[in-house]
Amino acid sequence: MITSRLPQVSGKNRRPEIMVILGSSLTVIAIISIVTFLLIREHASAQEAATRSATTIAQLIDADVLRTVELYDLSLQGLIAAAQRDDLKQVSAQIRHLVLFDRSTTARFKGDILLLDKHGEVLADSSLIEPKPGNFADRDYFLAHVSNRDTGMFISRPFKPRCDCEDSNEWRISLSRRIASPTGEFLGVAVASMRLTYFDQLFNTLNIGNDSTLNIINDEGILLAQKPYLEHDSIGKSFANRPNIMRILREGSGSFNSVSSIDGQQRLYTFSRVGNLPLTVIVALSGTDVFGAWRRTALVISGAAGVLCIGLLWLSWLLCRELRLRHNAEQELSLLAATDALTGVANRRILDLTLRHEWFRAQRSGLPLSVLMIDADHFKAFNDRHGHQRGDEALRTIAKVISANVRRPADLVARYGGEEFSVILAETDSAGAQKIAEQIRSAVEQLPRVEGDDSPMTVSIGISTWTTKTDATLEQLLFAADKALYQAKERGRNRVVAAL
Ligand code: GH3
Ligand code: MG
Ligand code: MG
Repeated sequence: MITSRLPQVSGKNRRPEIMVILGSSLTVIAIISIVTFLLIREHASAQEAATRSATTIAQLIDADVLRTVELYDLSLQGLIAAAQRDDLKQVSAQIRHLVLFDRSTTARFKGDILLLDKHGEVLADSSLIEPKPGNFADRDYFLAHVSNRDTGMFISRPFKPRCDCEDSNEWRISLSRRIASPTGEFLGVAVASMRLTYFDQLFNTLNIGNDSTLNIINDEGILLAQKPYLEHDSIGKSFANRPNIMRILREGSGSFNSVSSIDGQQRLYTFSRVGNLPLTVIVALSGTDVFGAWRRTALVISGAAGVLCIGLLWLSWLLCRELRLRHNAEQELSLLAATDALTGVANRRILDLTLRHEWFRAQRSGLPLSVLMIDADHFKAFNDRHGHQRGDEALRTIAKVISANVRRPADLVARYGGEEFSVILAETDSAGAQKIAEQIRSAVEQLPRVEGDDSPMTVSIGISTWTTKTDATLEQLLFAADKALYQAKERGRNRVVAAL
C-alpha cells in the first residue's frame, strides 16, 4: 500500500530518455538531410556536366551543317549568276554545263542540281549535259518560291527521288533559291538535293554512348536523321505531336530531362537550332549514361547512411531500455527505502521528513496541521493468543484501514514502530482530525473477528493540532499527541482523545 507521499515515477525522471530519443532523432534527421543535400547537388552537377558535353556535340553538328549548307548555297548562287548571263546562250552545251555547275562539285553528298524555269520545267541538270525533260512545279520548294519572293534559301521536307536510279530509295532534302529578274519577277528556281546520309556520316564521327541518340528535325517536327535508329522507318516521319518535340520546337534551344515517348527511356534532351535554318539538332543522352555513376554512388551512400541511422536508432533504443531499467530499479530502491516492509505504508524516515516539511509549510501558510498517533490495543495479548503470524496480518489490515480513511494527497500514513501508526493531516483542524480518527477507530472495531476470538480488534488514537493560536514547537506537538494517546489508553482504550 503506497500513499501519494511516497516516491513516484515522475515525468522529470524520464528526461534522459527523452533527451536520448530527441538527440538520436535529430542526428538521424541531420544525416538524412546532409546525404539528401549532397546527392541532389551531385545529381545537379552530373546533369550540368552532361548538358555541357551535349551542348558541345550539338555545336559541332551545327557548325558542320552550317558549313555544308553554305557550300550548297554558294553552288546555287553560282548557278543563278551563271544562268543569268546572256553570253552563255551562245556557247556550246558542254561549256555552258561546265560554267553553270563549276562550283557545285565542292558540295558533299550532293545529289542532282537542277535549274528550273518559271513553269517548273528542267532547264539544266548537273548530272546530264542534255537535261532529261521533267516538271517539278508541284514540289514544296517550287511552290514556296512562287508564292513568296523573300523565301531566301529554302530547305524542303525529306523525300525520295522520283527517278528509277540506283539510289532512288535514299532519303534526300533539297535546298533551293529563287531566280528573279532585276524587277523581282519570278523566273525559276535553282535547286540542289542533298542525301541525308550526310547526317549519318556526320553522326558517325561522334561518340555519344550506348543508349543516347543524335537527331535532326526540321521545323515541322519531321525527323531528318537519327543515330542510332529507335524506330524502323522513322526518317521522314513527323513527331510534331510528341510532347518532347513540341517543347523543343517551342523553346528553340535548351535542355531538359524527360522520358522518350518512343522507347520509354529517361533521357537528357539538349537541343539547339542550326543558325537560322529551319533545323534543330537534338542530343538525347540516356539517363543511364548521364546518371549511371551518380546512381551507383547514391546507392552506396544512402545504403551506408541508412545502416548508420538504423545502427544509431538501435543503440538509442538500447540506451533508452537501459535507462528505463535503471530508472525503474532506482524507483524500486527509493520506494523500498521509503516504505515499511510489513505494512507497505511510509516508514519512520519518511514520517520524520514529511512531518518537518509539513511543519514548516504550516508555519508559512498559517494553516492548521494535525497529527494522529494510533496504537493497537492489547496487541501483546493478541500476539499471545493468535501467534505473531496473525499479529503481522492484523497490523497489515490496520494499515489498510487507516490508509482507506486518509484520502487527501498531502496526507501521510506511516508506521511509527511496533503496533503504532502515525498520520499527518496537512491543513486539517482539530475537528477534521477527530472526524477522521473516529472513522479509523470505528472501521477497525468493525473488522471481522479473528477466528476463536470474542473481543474485536481496536485502536486508541491521540490527536494534537497546531494552529496559529497554539504557540507550540514540533516536539511539543508530537508530545501532545503521545499524551492524548496515553489518555485514550487510560480511559479504557478503543477511543479518540484530542489534546487541548
Ligand atoms: P496497549 O493496549 O497498552 O497498547 O497494550 P499492548 O499490548 O498493545 O502494548 P505493549 O507495548 O505492551 O505491547 C506491544 C506489542 O506489540 C508487543 C509486540 O508483541 C507487538 N508487536 C510490536 N511490533 C510487532 C510486529 O511487528 N508484529 C507483531 N506480530 N507484533 C508486534
Ligand atoms: Mg504501543
Ligand atoms: Mg498497543
